Amino acid sequence: MFTGETNQVSLMQCLIYKEMARAGLIHCPGANEPDLTKCFFCLIELEGWEPDHDPWLEHSKRAGDSCGFLSLSKSFDDLTVEEYYELEMERVRIFLSKTGQSVINAYEKEVAATTQRLVGHFVNKYQYAPEPDPATPAATENDMPTTT
Ligand SMILES: [Zn+2]
Repeated sequence: MFTGETNQVSLMQCLIYKEMARAGLIHCPGANEPDLTKCFFCLIELEGWEPDHDPWLEHSKRAGDSCGFLSLSKSFDDLTVEEYYELEMERVRIFLSKTGQSVINAYEKEVAATTQRLVGHFVNKYQYAPEPDPATPAATENDMPTTT
């Protein structure tokens, strides 16, 4: 059985979700981020929502001009097929770029961790001393700070 207070909270949540959706934001909570939202277009993530926050304004402040959804000069429902197609192509380009960069970053992090484990293994087992990185020249006496 619903109380008046529960109905009021549900109505407030509906209004909040409607405003979030108008601003292009999707609620995608995580264990540590219960109010996390993400723009379906630019994929910016926003959290730490306060009751007086305006989703469109907060999205605009954080995304600037980089969000094609916020930059639309007309209502989403009034787009021509060609305009919608161009917008969708831009959305997919952003999605692939961010997703690809995320995969590359995870791969590079794993390569660095594996390299460190292998070097540690060879140093311990064979007393191997890795050669200095040629990109980082060794310090010389001329590099030392001088005092006058
Ligand atoms: Zn956006």
